[in-house]
Amino acid sequence: MKRILVTGGAGFIGSHLCERLLEDGHEVLCLDNFFTGCKKNIVHLLGNPWFELIRHDVTMPFYSEIDEIYNLACPASPVHYQHNPIKTVKTNVIGAVNMLGLAKRKRAKILQASTSEVYGDPKVHPQVEGYWGYVNPVGERSCYDEGKRCAETLFMDYHKQNGVRIKVARIFNTYGTRMQLDDGRVVSNFIVQALRGVDITVHGSGSQTRCFQYVSDLVEALVRLMDTPEDFTGPVNIGNPHEVSILSLAEKIIEMTGSGSEIVFEQVRGDDPAKRKPDITMARKVLNGWEPVTGLEEGLVPTISYFREKLNGK
Ligand code: NAD
Ligand code: UDP
Repeated sequence: MKRILVTGGAGFIGSHLCERLLEDGHEVLCLDNFFTGCKKNIVHLLGNPWFELIRHDVTMPFYSEIDEIYNLACPASPVHYQHNPIKTVKTNVIGAVNMLGLAKRKRAKILQASTSEVYGDPKVHPQVEGYWGYVNPVGERSCYDEGKRCAETLFMDYHKQNGVRIKVARIFNTYGTRMQLDDGRVVSNFIVQALRGVDITVHGSGSQTRCFQYVSDLVEALVRLMDTPEDFTGPVNIGNPHEVSILSLAEKIIEMTGSGSEIVFEQVRGDDPAKRKPDITMARKVLNGWEPVTGLEEGLVPTISYFREKLNGK
């Protein structure tokens, strides 16, 4: 049994990860400031004696006896990370310094939830880990993109300079149950709009593409990544390479929900990447046969049911 700290543990991905680590027989410390996370996501874990909830902000130092850290604390939806961009940079950079300092002191292994946004609006498609990206340093997304890029730098330098055992996961668009109604990311937005019968808001023409990964496939990959041999640090792409346009996603969600909603086209958002798709050759190789196994429709079914219940106040 290990004692594992999950920062951002009350968030969408974090809550699924906490659940999985408890199922695997570990003790879990869930740390969150509840900016975008919520107690409802982890309330079912509160009775478990091996689960501990800590209200804390990663921009402040934190001390505890731990063996491993999954560093997920950071708002991930553009609407939320752009709400207070300075805080987003602090969470990414100061949060990384604090967690890496803790890992160094405790000789703990630490995994960083990095992002496909480090590739910016990519000129290489699909994106391989060796691509350095095309990122605007002064745009609407910069607080997140550059914050995550700096966090990767810090992880690598703590590894090289101090021998900290690190793993860096570049996570591509992930969706599933426990996203908030007001999350603002495309899958949850479209489902909520479709279920409410209001207009589906496509930014721009909807020809931009993304690849959507179901949350259980991601959690499996993160747990496997933490257990890779010591000399493997990443960064490694984790995503589902099935590429779809945003317009086709809207159409699929209308069809699956049986909604009468209309699609409306709104102004394109600043620095919105035109396309995104992970090359997951490295993940397949190092994560012991890992493969995203949940297709888009298969993952949308439980996600739609979850939002339907949430809208019905359950
Ligand atoms: P989320 O917003 O649901 O979860 C983030 C959690 O971090 C929330 O519980 C929030 O309250 C907490 N948090 C934010 N700032 C904090 C701070 N200063 N101190 C402590 N806690 C703080 O988002 P998510 O989708 O679950 O994302 C989790 C992580 O995965 C993030 O680091 C995100 O950047 C990364 N990621 C997610 C995706 C995706 O598609 N979901 C893609 C790439 C990377
Ligand atoms: N998007 C959209 N309508 C929405 C929300 C998002 O058309 O209501 C688009 C957005 O412009 C982007 C894509 O969907 O092209 C994915 O957006 P999201 O915020 O989920 O994540 P991103 O990958 O851009 O960080």
